[in-house]
Amino acid sequence: MNSVIYLDHAATCRMRPEAIAAMTEAMEHTFGNASPSYSIARDAKRCLDNARAVLAETIGAGWNEIFFTSGGTESDNWALTGTAEALQDKGKHIIVSAIEHHAILHTCEYLESRGFSVTRLPVDSEGRVRPEELADELNARPDTILVSVMAANNEIGTLEDIGTLCRYTHDHGALFHTDAVQAYGKTDALNVSAVPVDLFSASAHKIGGPKGIGFLYVRNGTRLQSLIHGGSQERGRRAGTENVPAAAGFAAAAKAAFANMENETRAERELQAYFRERLLAAFGERSGDSPAPSGILWNGPLPGDDRLANNISVSFPGVSAESLLISLDLAGICASGGSACTTGALDPSHVIMAVSGDRKRAEGTIRFTIGPENTKEEIDRTIEVLGEALQRIRTM
Ligand code: PLP
Repeated sequence: MNSVIYLDHAATCRMRPEAIAAMTEAMEHTFGNASPSYSIARDAKRCLDNARAVLAETIGAGWNEIFFTSGGTESDNWALTGTAEALQDKGKHIIVSAIEHHAILHTCEYLESRGFSVTRLPVDSEGRVRPEELADELNARPDTILVSVMAANNEIGTLEDIGTLCRYTHDHGALFHTDAVQAYGKTDALNVSAVPVDLFSASAHKIGGPKGIGFLYVRNGTRLQSLIHGGSQERGRRAGTENVPAAAGFAAAAKAAFANMENETRAERELQAYFRERLLAAFGERSGDSPAPSGILWNGPLPGDDRLANNISVSFPGVSAESLLISLDLAGICASGGSACTTGALDPSHVIMAVSGDRKRAEGTIRFTIGPENTKEEIDRTIEVLGEALQRIRTM
């Protein structure tokens, strides 16, 4: 067993060897700036465009619909702000789900400060946006220009019904964006010819590529203002000298992720089911209205088709997730809390609050995200450390 047990793959993951090899090759041999027309620059441009073509193919897009960005955050900011600025003559209303990542939610707050209005759709107790509620909101607000709903939630792993939500949105003449940062490379259901989203955000470091690069898919013909101004890179839509080695690493990681998806997902699903069984065996399940002082609450859908294979989100209501995370960390186990630490205070997770409305549950939530290299022994050890920590906390 490794001395560190890494169970935070949704935060980031180890780079795949294929990505390291592709980046090293590009750094050693393709140092040119991709813009000029001499041979070294042409090599860099070729490397960049090969990477673009590989990435485009993974989602059934055309090469000229993929724009490199600095990652998921920039892609999300660009999708929302770029659409808002381009379409404000049509309307100034945007719909998102209440459980989006802060890259979306904080961009919405920015847009509200610029005169746009935003509806945050509630979700059901497993984190699903109900298509009928979207339809009602679209009917009520004909000035809606954009709907943005994530493909998979980063905290509780819920997969959204992007196909239906996209269809309803298009029926009302608005654009549809999906933040696919957690879903990209983990499901092959995200093909833009089958599910015709207009905008799609992805990030390399969630699939074993480098940090600091992502892409925004922009369907041909979509009106979108630029977010970053300067040179004419990325066909005049996203300025800044391109990071060619990172693009090569991203493409290599994506190729490997898609080629190994079936095997990796199968391994993760098995571990996810095992993790759940072990949690229930060790701590029991607390029923919603039970006053019992112990027991866990499972967040999001049960393991299966409606949930990412790598995510386990569990609440220990009444216990501080922070204390549990410290105990896990002391034992060399990396996991993450359902809370974001902002300005020194712990804010309960907006996702757990949206699915349960229960602050104690949100404050006691831990997210484990596994990778195919994790083992049952690592999960057993995690359960053991959690058990010891809970006993210590409860007798304090
Ligand atoms: N969107 C989701 C759903 C995420 O999980 C993340 C990162 O955790 C982001 C956006 C931001 O991506 P990046 O780290 O590439 O900026």
